[in-house]
Amino acid sequence: MKELFEKVIKSLEKNNMQGFYAENSAQAVELVKQLIKKGDTVTMGGSMSVIESGVKDLITNGDYNFLDRGKEGITPEEIEEVYRKTFYADAYFCSSNAVTENGELYNVDGNSNRVAAILYGPKSVIMIVGKNKIVKDTDAAINRVKTIAAPKNTKRLNKQTYCNLKGSCVSLNGDSYICDGCGGSDRICRNYVFCGPQAKKNRIKVILVNENLGY
Ligand code: SF4
Repeated sequence: MKELFEKVIKSLEKNNMQGFYAENSAQAVELVKQLIKKGDTVTMGGSMSVIESGVKDLITNGDYNFLDRGKEGITPEEIEEVYRKTFYADAYFCSSNAVTENGELYNVDGNSNRVAAILYGPKSVIMIVGKNKIVKDTDAAINRVKTIAAPKNTKRLNKQTYCNLKGSCVSLNGDSYICDGCGGSDRICRNYVFCGPQAKKNRIKVILVNENLGY
């Protein structure tokens, strides 16, 4: 496993992203403390990995200016405002649906505020990625979303989709293109984004954690 982490970190660096290794969530939290400073404006996507690792607890502890889209009583208009303010944040926290051994990130989004922030806006993007998200290649990344991430997320979000009911994407039932899938308004797969070599060196930082985190 150690060799795999080293390989992925080298691949990320080749793609102008900064890779870090954390033995566990506690180490990941300590790393995050070094990557941001008190008073920074920070925010996060809807990420179980950020929550489970304890990073959310850190960035909401009052030392940072946390843009909170989940605060009690927030209106849809205010949530939209948080999404727009996110583009000016110092750091955006999320995970990645998959990270390939070749250093590519793969994310599929419904609302797409998350992939938007990953691609452009926040000064830095800090990803918390459990070992369960590391995959061999881009085909495995696509498959991971269709068989693991999407079914688990639709269950968590109580979305009435084929993958929630059957455990994998309807598109896997025959020959299909990457973006094929279910219909209906509950579909969570709308934009499919691979991140390869980046223009801004080290804007995206990936903390690989030697634990299973999120989906
Ligand atoms: S397209 Fe629909 S069925 Fe397929 S993974 Fe996404 S939400 Fe699930």
